[in-house]
Amino acid sequence: MEIIRSPREMQRRVRESRVRGESIGFVPTMGAFHEGHLSLMRRASSDNEVVIASLFVNPKQFGEAADLAAYPRDEATDARLAEGAGVDILYAPDVAAMYPPGFATTITVSGVSEVLEGAMRGPSHFQGVATVVAKLLNAVPCDRVYLGQKDAQQVAVLRRMILDLDFDVEVVVCPTVRESDGLAMSSRNVRLGSDDRMRALALRHGLDAALSAIDAGAPDADTVIRAATDAMRKDGIEPEYFAVVDALSLEPMQNLHGDILIAVAARVGPVRLIDNELIQIS
Ligand code: AMP
Repeated sequence: MEIIRSPREMQRRVRESRVRGESIGFVPTMGAFHEGHLSLMRRASSDNEVVIASLFVNPKQFGEAADLAAYPRDEATDARLAEGAGVDILYAPDVAAMYPPGFATTITVSGVSEVLEGAMRGPSHFQGVATVVAKLLNAVPCDRVYLGQKDAQQVAVLRRMILDLDFDVEVVVCPTVRESDGLAMSSRNVRLGSDDRMRALALRHGLDAALSAIDAGAPDADTVIRAATDAMRKDGIEPEYFAVVDALSLEPMQNLHGDILIAVAARVGPVRLIDNELIQIS
């Protein structure tokens, strides 16, 4: 597996593949690989002739300096795991290569960026995500980009940006990979102590309670949200938000029909976790 560190070198390498007519799949990441990341890479590998993964802990999308500082980093292990999952090229620029002195451009995606995570973390989070992914898609012009359903709002924001800015790339969304007890895999899970690891299941329990309430014929979103919040409180966790929204617009939904995103965020000990379920009610 090759490791490339500069945007120009990355573009040059992609041009070589294009001349050979090879299809290119791209998996953007911040590293600390777990089965969630590896599932995206394996899928990209089965769909494409060349697989490129990026590894860049993007300072622009972190609100809290402590969260950025604590973000796990181990490039050598990540490189080994990526190679095993079928990655041909790891694009691992440093901060200076991505944001050289004088860097002054920010991409803002209105609407879908402003609710849920955007409301809690402030506008700079999705501005950071959109700006870095636009740069990555320019460095790695690819046929398909692979994103995880785990970050459902990120998918909605990036879909909007890709459409609005005419990026010629297909978005492939892969299912959330979970631990055997249902906790969604996340690079932040390693920072959960054993008590917090147990309490982190509150997010899963909240989503399960919401799904059960819907199955039992809950008349509206408020009823679903109440059932979910009660379940989480039994685990000693207060959600930052528990939302039932339209899966495309991310706008709150009262009557439960169509494509629905059930999304939750909660702080568990030192870590902020998110999870979601996507359902369809006809
Ligand atoms: P990250 O490195 O956390 O920014 O994530 C990189 C990509 O992996 C994003 O598209 C995430 O949505 C995806 N991802 C992270 N965790 C999971 C998971 N548990 N299951 C599936 N995809 C995931």
